[in-house]
Amino acid sequence: MSTTTKYIFVTGGVTSSLGKGIIAASLAKLLQAQGYRVTIQKLDPYINVDPGTLNPYEHGECYVTEDGAETDLDLGHYERFLNRPTSQANNVTTGRIYQSVIQKERRGEFLGKTVQVVPHITDEIKERVQILGKSGEYDIVITEIGGTVGDIESLPYIEAVRQLRWDLGEDNGIVIHLTLVPFLSAAGELKTKPTQHSVKTLMESGVQADILVCRTEHTLPKELRRKLALFCNVKENAVIQSIDASTIYDVPNLMLDEGLDKVVLEKLNLKSSSPDIDRWNQFVHRHKNPKSEITIGLIGKYVELQDSYKSILEAFIHAGAENEVKVKIESIHSEYINEDNVELKLGHLDGVLVAPGFGERGIDGKIDAVKYVRENDIPFLGICLGMQMAVIEFSRNVLGIKDAASTEMNPETANPVIGLMEDQKTITDKGGTMRLGAWACDLKLGSKVRDIYKAESITERHRHRYEFNGAYKEQIEAAGMKATGLNPDTGLVEIVEISEHPWFIGVQYHPEYKSTVANPHPLFVAFVKASLNYNRKKKSATMAQN
Ligand code: GLN
Repeated sequence: MSTTTKYIFVTGGVTSSLGKGIIAASLAKLLQAQGYRVTIQKLDPYINVDPGTLNPYEHGECYVTEDGAETDLDLGHYERFLNRPTSQANNVTTGRIYQSVIQKERRGEFLGKTVQVVPHITDEIKERVQILGKSGEYDIVITEIGGTVGDIESLPYIEAVRQLRWDLGEDNGIVIHLTLVPFLSAAGELKTKPTQHSVKTLMESGVQADILVCRTEHTLPKELRRKLALFCNVKENAVIQSIDASTIYDVPNLMLDEGLDKVVLEKLNLKSSSPDIDRWNQFVHRHKNPKSEITIGLIGKYVELQDSYKSILEAFIHAGAENEVKVKIESIHSEYINEDNVELKLGHLDGVLVAPGFGERGIDGKIDAVKYVRENDIPFLGICLGMQMAVIEFSRNVLGIKDAASTEMNPETANPVIGLMEDQKTITDKGGTMRLGAWACDLKLGSKVRDIYKAESITERHRHRYEFNGAYKEQIEAAGMKATGLNPDTGLVEIVEISEHPWFIGVQYHPEYKSTVANPHPLFVAFVKASLNYNRKKKSATMAQN
């Protein structure tokens, strides 16, 4: 294995949303499957210090790492593909870069000097890129640069890549440029011009792409690949087609067929072998050949946006494959659920997940949904806000505490069954101040979760400010909702379950962040299994009736 870390930069051209993250993750998978230690990093050109304060409408889900970084959702793909945790160092934004340079300036580290984009900002970027490489833990670091070349925001990053390639030497740093080859249906033709232009734009900043990955809806004919190679200064075998796939989990194999891993390793002067992706392929096979189908309702307030609950949707794919069942997700907007239509909206479902979230909008619908599934024995998983809603519903409708609420939505409530965590009370800054990252949780003997996790103690990732109010614990437990997972140090209630119900679990943490292809999350696997059982029972009951 090499002693110097090699760097691969992934840039994007023509348009955003081409799937750089998936290409980076797929390449990383193929390299990892040849024995290389690989990690992926995302550089985001926006000025927010992290995406933690961004609305999901802006930027999709906020992903959380073990060490409590609030990051871009692409890090979720990296972890799901590679089955390796990422960290603070794996996501860097322009805001973070500037914050750190300005702090250094205030400390006097540049004393006497004018602080400038080049070299100070670019030096900071270069340092951040190399942190992972210098840790000695990786043979290859893939750095994905967010945005599209030509954007004003991306310029310092592209300049840093130019400098780094020079510093590192030719075969230690390469650039993969991801572009679009559109199909013009009126002309019946695939067009290379946008790609030519974006490669040219990259060159204007002094960066020559080594490899082109071309997103396309149709197969790229040989002549077209030759043309792209000729006009864009790359070898013909470095023009890689990335055709639309029915699932992102097909992309590693598509890239393998195109030889992306081979050409990358050749350019980095590293040995290539045949990647061992048997386990991956077993998963893909199970995912594509389900034996039955179930429908799970995802109840949230951002359901119209696919990216808002990315990790939850992916966790269902992993858990579905594990159970050999297709999990059809029906997204249901909580704002439009009420007591009168809840049966109509949820009656046909095999399981219901109430999603995480913040703020007042749509919470009544969530509470109505929980009541319905609790009373009708439909499998239920509540995540974070979803768990908090389950506690509120139970307090209101089983314990009869009619004004039970969370102080997040109702600060004046006389019965705050969910309240602000003690150490949050003095916090005023919004960014990076929630209870974040991995915390331990002890599982009660005899509980469902203990059985599901097959462990006494677990760690899971968090992102919240409010918690189950311990003052109500005794009352709530006596009525049948048990606190079955507790933080060993603070006693914070991490899990509630209703033992009487066939499958009713609420968790304060986010299990979805830890689900990977190689390690589907046990809670999702068990939830899907319970929903499958419910579906079967329902079917046999109707059959018996007929
Ligand atoms: N808004 C709730 C809290 O801060 C739940 C957060 C979440 O669902 N991630 O505790």
